[in-house]
Amino acid sequence: MSGNRAERGKRFADAMFSGVAAGLCLAVLAGVVFALAVTGGCLAVAMRPNARDFQPPREETLLATGYCNCQKCCGWKYTWYGRSVVAAGKNAGRPKKVGITASGTRARHGTIAADTSVYPVGTIVEIPGYGFGRVEDRGGAIRGRHVDLWFRRHSDAVKWGRRNVRVRVWLPRKK
Ligand SMILES: [Zn+2]
Repeated sequence: MSGNRAERGKRFADAMFSGVAAGLCLAVLAGVVFALAVTGGCLAVAMRPNARDFQPPREETLLATGYCNCQKCCGWKYTWYGRSVVAAGKNAGRPKKVGITASGTRARHGTIAADTSVYPVGTIVEIPGYGFGRVEDRGGAIRGRHVDLWFRRHSDAVKWGRRNVRVRVWLPRKK
């Protein structure tokens, strides 16, 4: 009788344990998926260049700087009635959509601003310490062998600073 009860207790404990283990696995899985989504892991996978659409990669050393959506990085300001506009230059006063790139995409980790006469929109660059990125934006001060890497936080852009980095570049094939 008591043996039977002990057996039942053990079975209950086993069931409990496997339930907890399954729950733990799910939690870990959810955590990994979440972390990938947050760090742009999914985007990085989407940015792997393929041979059909891209030329073979070439290695280059170029200047990599960082930027974010802020007024300081992107040169915009609010009008007195609260509209965001370009702060200076020939487009001063023109409406500015904050966080939207020159090609119309939403800026995120992996967004690169470059001189599109050198690196056309769609060019993929792998930058050590940053990961894969795609040229989607431009900037007045970005000329030649220079990429400006998007960061979510201004402090991260500042922390990145200015670096000369050895990168791999995949230029899109001409259509
Ligand atoms: Zn900034």
